[in-house]
Amino acid sequence: MIDNKYNLGFFPTPIQKLKNLSKNYPDYTIYIKRDDNTGLASGGNKTRKLEYLIKQALDEECDTIITAGAQQSNHCRQTAAACSIAGLKCHLLLGGGNPKKYDGNLLLSSILGATIHFTGKNRKGEDIQTLKNKLDKNGNKCFVISYGGSNIIGAMGFVNAMKELKEQLTEQNLTMDYIFFASSSGGTQAGMILGIELFKLKSKLIPINIDKDETNGISLEKVVLNLVKEGSMLLKMNKQFTIADISLNRDYDKDGYGILSENEKNTIKELARKEGILLDPVYTGRAFNGMLDYFKKNKIPTNSNVLFWHTGGLPAIFKYTNELK
Ligand SMILES: *Cc1c(COP(=O)(O)O)cnc(C)c1O
Repeated sequence: MIDNKYNLGFFPTPIQKLKNLSKNYPDYTIYIKRDDNTGLASGGNKTRKLEYLIKQALDEECDTIITAGAQQSNHCRQTAAACSIAGLKCHLLLGGGNPKKYDGNLLLSSILGATIHFTGKNRKGEDIQTLKNKLDKNGNKCFVISYGGSNIIGAMGFVNAMKELKEQLTEQNLTMDYIFFASSSGGTQAGMILGIELFKLKSKLIPINIDKDETNGISLEKVVLNLVKEGSMLLKMNKQFTIADISLNRDYDKDGYGILSENEKNTIKELARKEGILLDPVYTGRAFNGMLDYFKKNKIPTNSNVLFWHTGGLPAIFKYTNELK
């Protein structure tokens, strides 16, 4: 199951120690996993999911991919790039209206050749079925990738990522007590939970919630649990997962999706100026800020080894030029 994929990126992504930043938070040793360097048209966590989703689309002999997201969707940009590699047509449904100026991910998706449909208030794929019917009627064979690539097939990318992590940690003689990351559509988190169990990692996940709005009226915890249950059956695991297995920190999502506060701004600049690493304004800036808050308040035991999973998102910086200068 986790071997059934189509190569789209460079793996394993590096693990790097944040030597300078760790000096500012001497109670902790901080590492970063560089999925911003997966290599797919400026990288990101969706590359891992797309390796499985594109494989399924090709196996089903589809010729067209449809997916959806916000205008600055990293998922949509990486999907457009994956389609270029695999020789598939790509249709993106993006929230909002057609803007005068294209920037960030929207610009990249356009350069990558995707056909873009603007869907107003609907930024989570509400209009996918209508478009699919129309394209299928015109002789295309469409494959739908769910919002954020977060179905169980996409989540396999992060089951496999945990195998990759385990191998790296063994090789480097390291252990990680905690893994912080940005959680939003749930596929990353579900894959990590399954992978940790499957490959017997000792790390505890601290997912930082990014988007306080629910998708289809279902809480993110429930979305993740459903994916984990489905995955545990597919992977023939013995463990019975319950809602108690799903953690999610909602302390940092109050400003709303895509809204950049002083917290994220300061965090983005702190990491950039200490380590030369760029976080993104929507996901990793918020999640990294949450992690630093844990350090400042000693919300996790001192002397822990902590891994921040950098999930990418760099192009969105170029949508926030005034706020970040
Ligand atoms: C999509 C995305 C996430 C969240 O991953 P999910 O699997 O949707 O929870 C985190 N960071 C970045 C940069 C993303 O693009």
